[in-house]
Amino acid sequence: MRVLRVALDVPLATLFDYMRTPEIDAEIGDRVVVPFGTRSRVGVVVEEAANSTIDASKLRPASRVLADAPRLSASWLEFMRFLAGYYQRPLGETVMGALPPRLRSLKPLPAKVRDAALAASGSPQLVSSHTPSEAQAQTVDRIAAAAGRYAAFLLHGVTGSGKTEVYLRAIARVLERGGQALALVPEISLTPQLEARFRAAFPAARIAVLHSALQDVPRTAAWLAAAGGAADIVLGTRLAVLTPVPRLALVVVDEEHDTSFKQQEGLRYSGRDAAVVRAKLAGCPVVLGTATPSLETWQNALEGRYERLALPERAVPGAQLPAVRCVDLRRESAEHGFSPSLLAAVGERLARREQSLVFINRRGYAPVLACHACGWSAGCLRCTARLVLHRTDRRLRCHYCGDEAPIPRTCPTCGNLDLKAMGRGTQRVEETLAGHFPAARIVRIDRDSARRRGELARTLEGIARGEADVLVGTQLLAKGHDFPLLTLVGVLDADGALLSTDYRAAERLFATLAQVAGRAGRAQHAGEVLVQTRYPEHPLFRALARHDYAAFAEAQLAERRGAGFPPFVHEAALRAEAPKLAQAMQFLQDAARLVPVPDEVQVYDPVPHVITRRADLERAQLLVQSGSRPALQAFLRDWSERLFASAPRQVRWHLDVDPIEFD
Ligand code: ADP
Ligand code: ZN
Ligand code: ZN
Repeated sequence: MRVLRVALDVPLATLFDYMRTPEIDAEIGDRVVVPFGTRSRVGVVVEEAANSTIDASKLRPASRVLADAPRLSASWLEFMRFLAGYYQRPLGETVMGALPPRLRSLKPLPAKVRDAALAASGSPQLVSSHTPSEAQAQTVDRIAAAAGRYAAFLLHGVTGSGKTEVYLRAIARVLERGGQALALVPEISLTPQLEARFRAAFPAARIAVLHSALQDVPRTAAWLAAAGGAADIVLGTRLAVLTPVPRLALVVVDEEHDTSFKQQEGLRYSGRDAAVVRAKLAGCPVVLGTATPSLETWQNALEGRYERLALPERAVPGAQLPAVRCVDLRRESAEHGFSPSLLAAVGERLARREQSLVFINRRGYAPVLACHACGWSAGCLRCTARLVLHRTDRRLRCHYCGDEAPIPRTCPTCGNLDLKAMGRGTQRVEETLAGHFPAARIVRIDRDSARRRGELARTLEGIARGEADVLVGTQLLAKGHDFPLLTLVGVLDADGALLSTDYRAAERLFATLAQVAGRAGRAQHAGEVLVQTRYPEHPLFRALARHDYAAFAEAQLAERRGAGFPPFVHEAALRAEAPKLAQAMQFLQDAARLVPVPDEVQVYDPVPHVITRRADLERAQLLVQSGSRPALQAFLRDWSERLFASAPRQVRWHLDVDPIEFD
């Protein structure tokens, strides 16, 4: 008898056994339809065996093989096994989750999708208007010299140093030799711009674009083009790393420090870390590019596991890094968030017909609506969080669960008519600026203004053409965009992160500020950055002003080493949510005693999340640490096996390996 072990996306389960029959000639890597209960499901054959633990009389045959997509290769399945093992998730969920939704369903694939996927490229040749600089050329050569074997590079280049140009040239080299390249980028909102740049650089190449916002048909077609080998370049967000790429010859991760590479549900993988493993398995180089490396990556470079390639200068001749200055809020008082210095600087730009960007990392009008008579403030009924006031559409909105409410006219507890909006977000900043500069064209860019994808792209193009004077924006404006007329960046509230208890807050602040600062002065005009702060002498701002990432990283790493934080220890979090906090805490306390804890591993006491309630569930977590990754992995393996077997139903739980967020 031959038994097929089939990966199915069934909660808590691993593999299911089916009989292999002469009629159903399924091989490892085939997608198959199998009976499951009274229905059918799509799964992937991941193993074959001579016998099953299930009685032969109960074993059912697979129904049919799906031949509408390429067979999944052994090396891709090996990658899936690694991910499932490392992130402690069932193989079925991992394998099925890596397929586009259409290939998990029983519906047959329309012929047009298959045909679209087959069309190969004309000629994947690079068309570039730039002559590479000396530094760029050397960098490309180093990467090309590693062709055909695993090597990890940190491409550490200041903003505007021409990293993208290096990716394109390195990709061109592998395409010349018939390889495929995989390029990962952090955010969907960035993809259209970068995609346009890739398409312009390789006009005849086949570029498969992959991200979760794509419709079923284009996503499936792109996946098939990658997996079938027709695509020269696979460009996408973190999920693109899960795509089969049979002739993979180079992996690029742009903005490798970006936290959006981490998946926050299901298989909680790091797209960046997975990319490195992927390159290792494929035996090809991987390039991690950024101006502000994650401290994990920086430490890897210091220890020689990654080779650092530096681009210390801006690429455009004459373009300088911006001058960064702190505005001391203890000396200059800010009115509605703006210091006189910042307002004056915006005024100068307006007079010179240059652009300014005002950065504030909070959308909405004001984060708090409160009554000063009785102390009431508008809170979310489902979360431990305040509702954010949104003026433009007259709503109160929870940024955690999405709940909405109308703005009350009077205080619901004391009837006071005078409710105060406290603090500020992008909408209020826009209003303040409009008051000071009534003739200026002000454009706000945040997730509310950028709901529709095409619209954001059009707005950004307009800005680049000079159709705006002042931009007000969040993180969404911080990266990737190239606005030649932008010469001033003002940062309103930078201090929150300095006071945060999250040890990663400083790293994120530095990266964000370096990114926003990087928007200024990218072309001929010199750029200036004004950071409003009450801590102008803070080492973070000093390092930022000197564009000295290395000094910042050295100080941070010394702190982390002293305090026993990553990258010097490895972590996992066990999180639980339940209707009542006590249930979640009890689950975690029991979980901590479920298996013996080896000496090299520390299991800490459970603690409630800061935002304890979220969408009606109360949440707690416990942290596990070890100086040894293998020891932590071995412990997690035993532990998760027991957890999957014994967890009570009323508690939702998950393990997060290498967690980066703890709120
Ligand atoms: P990064 O990805 O490091 O931010 P980019 O690749 O976007 O940098 O390059 C920044 C700017 O410099 C772009 O406008 C790009 O067209 C230009 N650029 C890149 N390489 C060169 C070069 N060798 N000569 C002139 N301009 C260049
Ligand atoms: Zn009141
Ligand atoms: Zn809420």
